[in-house]
Amino acid sequence: MRDPRYDILFEPVRIGPVTARNRFFQVPHCNGMGYRDPSAQAAMRGVKAEGGWAVVCTEQVEIHPTSDITPFIELRIWDDADLPALARICDAIHSQGALAGIELAHNGMNSPNLYSREVPLGPASLPVATWSHDPVQARAMTRADIADLRRWHADAVRRSLAAGYDLVYVYAAHGLGGLHHFLSRRYNDRGDEYGGSLRNRARLLSEILADTREIADGRAAVACRITVDEMLGEAGITRAETEELVGLLAEVPDLWDFVLGSWEDDSVTSRFAPEAAQEEHVRGLKRLTTKPVVGVGRFTSPDTMVRQVTSGVLDLIGAARPSIADPFLPRKIEEGRLEDIRECIGCNVCVSGDFTASPIRCTQNPAMGEEFRRGWHPERIRPRRSDARILVAGAGPAGLEAARALGQRGYRVTLAEASRELGGRVARESALPGLAAWRRVAEYREQQLRRMPNVEIYPQSPIDADDALAGGFTHVVVATGAAWRADGVGRWHTRPIPVGGPLPVLTPDDLMAGRRPAGPRVVVFDDDHYYLGGVLAELLAGEGCQVRLVTPAAHVSAWTANTLELVRIRRRIMRAGIAVDTNRTVTRLDGDGVVTACVFTGAEALVEADAVVMVTARLPRDRLAADVEAIASRRPGGPLRSVQVIGDAWAPGTIAAAVWSGRRCAEELDEPPSTAPVPFRREVAALSREWP
Ligand code: ADP
Ligand code: SF4
Repeated sequence: MRDPRYDILFEPVRIGPVTARNRFFQVPHCNGMGYRDPSAQAAMRGVKAEGGWAVVCTEQVEIHPTSDITPFIELRIWDDADLPALARICDAIHSQGALAGIELAHNGMNSPNLYSREVPLGPASLPVATWSHDPVQARAMTRADIADLRRWHADAVRRSLAAGYDLVYVYAAHGLGGLHHFLSRRYNDRGDEYGGSLRNRARLLSEILADTREIADGRAAVACRITVDEMLGEAGITRAETEELVGLLAEVPDLWDFVLGSWEDDSVTSRFAPEAAQEEHVRGLKRLTTKPVVGVGRFTSPDTMVRQVTSGVLDLIGAARPSIADPFLPRKIEEGRLEDIRECIGCNVCVSGDFTASPIRCTQNPAMGEEFRRGWHPERIRPRRSDARILVAGAGPAGLEAARALGQRGYRVTLAEASRELGGRVARESALPGLAAWRRVAEYREQQLRRMPNVEIYPQSPIDADDALAGGFTHVVVATGAAWRADGVGRWHTRPIPVGGPLPVLTPDDLMAGRRPAGPRVVVFDDDHYYLGGVLAELLAGEGCQVRLVTPAAHVSAWTANTLELVRIRRRIMRAGIAVDTNRTVTRLDGDGVVTACVFTGAEALVEADAVVMVTARLPRDRLAADVEAIASRRPGGPLRSVQVIGDAWAPGTIAAAVWSGRRCAEELDEPPSTAPVPFRREVAALSREWP
């Protein structure tokens, strides 16, 4: 039963000619599937609709070959050939009773057009504004170009209606939509009627909104998505300008969607911003229009959502990440099952799918991106096929998810964990600066497991092979994780770093276990390149150490470019007074410190230090599996059918990969081994009929 406090979230909201069944609105979000994996995307969006979202949108949809943001893989609506894919997505959303939204985008100066080879278009002749600094400039659009753009957008609106969409977005936000470039003084220095005053800079947006309305003609709602503040002061769009803009166009769209700054500012990780961080920037805009307003804020708490509505900030609760982590968030609130909500941890692994042009994955929701490919569902899993009894050794993210999903299937599961606390690496890492939200990975799973009568949990129970065999289990799942190496082996050094003198070496495991360097001068050697090196440097600096971070990469925590965190991490590292040596490696240790070398010239320097922290690579902790197999082979005839190693014990990787591997183990238990060369469904581009 729903808590009446949340009734307001389930009120229908009229959006122009259509009505949202409640206030839950999945705003457009990228997913790395786009035009390459349309059925995978359709299934993913359909599951969101099934989970109760009233509106489910596509990601940005490129309207024309001059709007091609290759290597990113988004949807396209270039011509009628794109319609079957778009219609499949729309139908999947409709089939579950939600409204389908499409975010039409001309990416303007954000499109390097690497695939189409068209010349990029923008308000001014400036280098394209892409993450990859493509060596090409946009051409300043002429009046003829502007007329073309209006025509392309109008055609895209017609096609969106033909595909069945109920809500059509005009996208002018994030510095990604080309209309944003026209709005912003940062890019628009035109001297004609499309530049200068805000009214002029808004002219193209206003014309395209009017075109869209005219074509939609009551058959679909029109949404306008804008950046409320570019966070650049007078050099860019300010909140005051946004107020003027909303004043000008107040009643033109049927819905306003307000975002903050660039994508980096809008999808901030939990390390750098709390839930509802955008609220202060969006508050007050709603009173400038009678039209409904949607906005985001990594909303996972229904109380925060209610406050957005009752305090007049938003009408619709926008969500990308919370809808990825839990596609059934609205339904769980509606059914009073708050404890079942799989809260987003704000890690942005989902975002990395877009940046790496690979299907979206989520740390909390291993079914994300697998709905069509493997038939996984975030809430359901097929019942057990046997009376097998399963031992899961290790309760990190892999073991917890395996036990949870096996328990959900109805198997009898014993989960044994060596330490007192469940959670493995997430329990330890979540105690580090900025990573507290990561605990939710363990909390959600522990909460679910504790309610399963067929699952027994034994903390403080290190398992050896004899224990595993004595229990009479049918399957043993080894989820015992991995240990950080102290010998410096990683990407740069594939053999141990030479040691010329006694320098204390600490690993991340040591630091997380509370051990600390004896003296204040510490070198953190980060050859891992994800978050941990930077976080540990921050931890030690916060405790008063003089920290120098040495990394062979060009950036601190280089891979976090894929999670939109690179700049914020570097800023925090610099403000913490941490010295940084990028493009340098550690070549050897000696009694006085570490010898570092330039990765380009090899020029060496001694960094005096009292200790070095090696953040390089991990060794899988998989001995239990080999021991069990060895003993079992000497004692045939027992109940044991399989021993499987999962998660970091199989191959150290991300928490998301560990959770996924736990899910896969549970999905595939008792299934006949697949003989298919590709273990999942995929779509292959149809060959052109025109050949040669
Ligand atoms: P993953 O990311 O693959 O889940 P973790 O390192 O997070 O791996 O978790 C592994 C967990 O396994 C840790 O909590 C660790 O204490 C536990 N563990 C390691 N060896 C054993 C063992 N022999 N018996 C039970 N638990 C173990
Ligand atoms: Fe949230 Fe991380 Fe999942 Fe993205 S990957 S939805 S940030 S938990």
